[in-house]
Amino acid sequence: MNDVTCGMCGEPWEYYYLTHELAEAEKKKVLRGKGCPCCDWGESDRATGEYQTKRVRSIANATDLDPVEYI
Ligand SMILES: [Zn+2]
Repeated sequence: MNDVTCGMCGEPWEYYYLTHELAEAEKKKVLRGKGCPCCDWGESDRATGEYQTKRVRSIANATDLDPVEYI
């Protein structure tokens, strides 16, 4: 499990993809739990926002970032 979970909709994103295929600002939004392209950045019905704990845990597991900065 090397994916970062979207905090809004639960969509898994490969960290490599976030880093190389999204703009830096978009990557930051995913990491900070502001949604992702899949949930229209938190605007779609999919975006329940119930995955924020899972998101922080996924950052700890899938990246070398400090998850504390993304709580
Ligand atoms: Zn999403």
